[in-house]
Amino acid sequence: MKIYNTMSKSKEDFIPLEEGKVKMYVCGPTVYNYIHIGNARPMIVFDTVRRYFEYKGYDVNFVSNFTDVDDKIIKKANEEGVTADEISKRYIAECKKDMEGMNIEPATKNPLATEEIGGMIDMISTLIEKGYAYEKNGTVYYRTRKFEGYGKLSHKNLDDLQSGGRALLVTGEDEKEDPLDFVLWKPKKEGEPAWQSPWGEGRPGWHIECSEMSKKYLGEQIDIHAGGEDLIFPHHENEIAQSEAANGKPFAKYWMHNGFLNIDNRKMSKSLGNFFTVREISEKYDLQVLRFFMLSAHYRSPLNFSAELMEAAGNGLERIVTASGNLKFLMENAGTDRMTEAETELFAQTDRFKENFEKAMEDDFNTADAIAAIFDFVKFINTNTDGNSSKEYLEKLHDRLATLADVLGIIVDRDEEMLDEEIEALIEERQTARKNRDFARADQIREELLAKGIVLEDTREGVKWRRA
Ligand code: AMP
Ligand code: ZN
Repeated sequence: MKIYNTMSKSKEDFIPLEEGKVKMYVCGPTVYNYIHIGNARPMIVFDTVRRYFEYKGYDVNFVSNFTDVDDKIIKKANEEGVTADEISKRYIAECKKDMEGMNIEPATKNPLATEEIGGMIDMISTLIEKGYAYEKNGTVYYRTRKFEGYGKLSHKNLDDLQSGGRALLVTGEDEKEDPLDFVLWKPKKEGEPAWQSPWGEGRPGWHIECSEMSKKYLGEQIDIHAGGEDLIFPHHENEIAQSEAANGKPFAKYWMHNGFLNIDNRKMSKSLGNFFTVREISEKYDLQVLRFFMLSAHYRSPLNFSAELMEAAGNGLERIVTASGNLKFLMENAGTDRMTEAETELFAQTDRFKENFEKAMEDDFNTADAIAAIFDFVKFINTNTDGNSSKEYLEKLHDRLATLADVLGIIVDRDEEMLDEEIEALIEERQTARKNRDFARADQIREELLAKGIVLEDTREGVKWRRA
């Protein structure tokens, strides 16, 4: 399996630290509002990476944090006149609902920054002891130039950073030894949540959170560290400096970063008015469509969101779900149980779709090509099954389709109640079939609906339906 490593800027063979296991950390959202569809991209992408490892038989320890103490959370709490804790708890709960809607597997652990302050204080203390950090007036800074490998992930040069860094110096930070130094601990400001520490009351900087939580739940060395590409610098660069200096070991073996999601070819932003939360999108589309859309491009490419592209994703997904529905319908009505020799031969031909799917996923998780392999499989299903197919053959096709789709987090079986509009669309199709004297299709639709507990009645005023 090949993974593109941001550190080496090349695709590398995946070799786990421990055989059969994957230790993976994905930087999670800062919870001060509903998550937006940009935040959904790393969630969907890295959940798919995890699912593929699991499909291959790996035991995946998947840790993803919630940043629940931050300036934005405090600002929102002050606006609403509630505590920061209330804001973060509310939006963690809402985020989990959205994640469930996107069929994201629950993480092995979702640590909360506010519950890990003790560990962060210990790590900062170690960094001070080792000479990598220093305290000034209640603020602790990381001594960036002391860490030799600084810049190795983002491929930035310290001197270029230095010239840019000077301009970035803000008031109150002139106490830093070097403009490149970054904050590990900041002193309490009035009205802000704060914790006791050896440097007085205060709260941790953002970068130290992930270094500590990753160490606590996965160990000092991990296989994969991931997030959106905006996190490469400074967040992940700083995490490396902290973790490697404190632990004296290389931190993550593979660094994976997803490209950005844009809206109608523009950067998503509140001020441009093209900002969508996952919740808003869920009112217009099934979140399975959002998931399918996100996986239709390579995760490292920029991805453009638009109504047309979502519609195309919806149609693509529908083809897969329909093929699965047809298989189930045929299965229920199959005349014979056992596969014939001809069917055994046909089923063997579908190995190539599975192989193509895996080949695509092995090549740095090329989900676009993996979806193409599924579409080829769907075409095969549609042309090689009918009312004479055996139950075993249909079942095998269905299982294979469901298994491959499941790696992408796509659910092929709609076992929930049919929506009214879906029923009405089928009734309309049945009317058209009858007009065209295609009575076989018309009857098939009646049966299909009946199987789902929908009874049709032909009355003088037209077709009426009810749930049985
Ligand atoms: P944040 O809450 O801003 O720290 O973001 C949480 C995650 O979402 C990080 O991995 C970000 O890189 C990612 N992210 C934020 N905006 C976008 C976007 N427009 N497209 C893709 N990923 C994004
Ligand atoms: Zn992080």
